[in-house]
Amino acid sequence: MADRITIVGGGLVGALLGTVLAKRGMDVHIFERRPDMRAASMSAGRSINLAMSDRGLRALEVAGIADDIRAISIPMHGRVMHDVQGNQTYQPYGREGEFINSVSRGELNKTLLTVAERHGVKVTFEARCTDIDFKTGTTTFALPNDETVVVEADVVFGADGAYSAVRGRMQMVDRFNYSQTYLEHGYKELHIPPDAAGAFQLEKNALHIWPRKSFMMIALPNLDGSFTLTLFFAHEGDPSFQQLRTREAVTQFFDEQFPDAVPMMPTLIDDFFTNPESSLVMVRCFPWVMNDKIALIGDSAHAIVPFYGQGMNCGFEDCRILIECLDHHNNEWGPALASYQRLRKPAGDGILDLALDNFIEMRDKVADPRFLWRKKIEAWIHAEFPDRFIPLYTMVTFSSDIPYNEARRIGLEQDVLMEELMSIPSVVSDWTSDDAKQAMRDVMMQRPTITIASGSPA
Ligand SMILES: Cc1cc2nc3c(=O)[nH]c(=O)nc-3n(C[C@H](O)[C@H](O)[C@H](O)COP(=O)(O)OP(=O)(O)OC[C@H]3O[C@@H](n4cnc5c(N)ncnc54)[C@H](O)[C@@H]3O)c2cc1C
Repeated sequence: MADRITIVGGGLVGALLGTVLAKRGMDVHIFERRPDMRAASMSAGRSINLAMSDRGLRALEVAGIADDIRAISIPMHGRVMHDVQGNQTYQPYGREGEFINSVSRGELNKTLLTVAERHGVKVTFEARCTDIDFKTGTTTFALPNDETVVVEADVVFGADGAYSAVRGRMQMVDRFNYSQTYLEHGYKELHIPPDAAGAFQLEKNALHIWPRKSFMMIALPNLDGSFTLTLFFAHEGDPSFQQLRTREAVTQFFDEQFPDAVPMMPTLIDDFFTNPESSLVMVRCFPWVMNDKIALIGDSAHAIVPFYGQGMNCGFEDCRILIECLDHHNNEWGPALASYQRLRKPAGDGILDLALDNFIEMRDKVADPRFLWRKKIEAWIHAEFPDRFIPLYTMVTFSSDIPYNEARRIGLEQDVLMEELMSIPSVVSDWTSDDAKQAMRDVMMQRPTITIASGSPA
């Protein structure tokens, strides 16, 4: 008999997980708390988008839908920084052909659910997990009209996000470690519509950043010619959301801080007071697996802040590596889940730390001339010595073979190297000179090639 799998949560990760397990012949049932977002009666609202990079796409390849998702994505080849005068500076993300993709969260989730059903996954909406028996794998769901359903399964996945009910139940088990931290900063989504001709008002193939040291705003393009903006800002203090409680205060703040964006935001005031001020949470926990039959995946296992654009990518990578673990252990769940946890827990911790580091880089350093100088030198070293130096952003975003924790370890070592190179006198005076390049080559020749611990079970 096929393995019976219960997945709690039909968000991005739960829906993808359903497909990859059903493709192995398993009997998969997803239970999702919300109504079906594909129902015509539900308004899609304004688009909220996500950056999808190589790790996410590689996992979608396993599900056979990477091309479908590419078709509804907009490539972003670099960052455009906007200073307070409205001057723009462009910085490519990687080499030619290396880019990230802006994709609508709603469209992606709908596509993933449809693909899952096409592979035979059953999906029950408006079913909220209220209890789980870790010994038997029996899960209880509350349905509308006070009905309850109890479901037996061989394996249960908690793919129910940052405020996971499955994880909440695990917290009651002895020796379960858990930490939850809120960032001082929250976020609010805003909007730039297309112009009167329906065209993009900013460069379409880029992620736009307005870095302002203690806060920042970003914009990602949507297929309809609009941009979704996100203001990351402290909840309290000076400056903060707390200070922006009147139309006048919001207008003055945006005019001062984002003067080039304001003329493109006709609904700024309405959006500002209608859209929620949301919080940002980080969660670490362990173990992710209990009794060889209950496992956490995606944000339920590792909720991170969004500053590397990797939360979903990491969750999708969890799915891919889980499948590799099943392959490696001939579909035996006990050893496969143990391998999954051994490989993915350090990766989850790694990206949590990287995402936090990147907040400082995005809001503060991207506007710093020394940072831009360093990025140019890094690109040159990478081109000259590709097996001895890989920029951190490249390892995280354009590689799916370097585990996040390894990327962080190597990145920290490379920070030390960069400080050394950037203090060579000829590099300080003109890094493009022959002398400077030779001096850097001499240092690089002494370095070993990079060795990377595998993130796969084989
Ligand atoms: C502002 C912001 C920007 C982001 N940008 C990016 C980005 O650019 N790139 C990127 O890779 N990641 C990004 N992320 C992270 C990304 O959104 C998450 O990592 C991703 O949504 C995690 O997917 P998930 O399926 O694990 O959880 P979720 O998407 O939260 O899905 C969980 C699902 O479980 C359901 N559920 C919850 N409780 C229950 C229950 N008790 N019973 C049944 N169902 C339940 C929920 O309704 C939901 O559908 C961003 C996050 C934020 C906040």
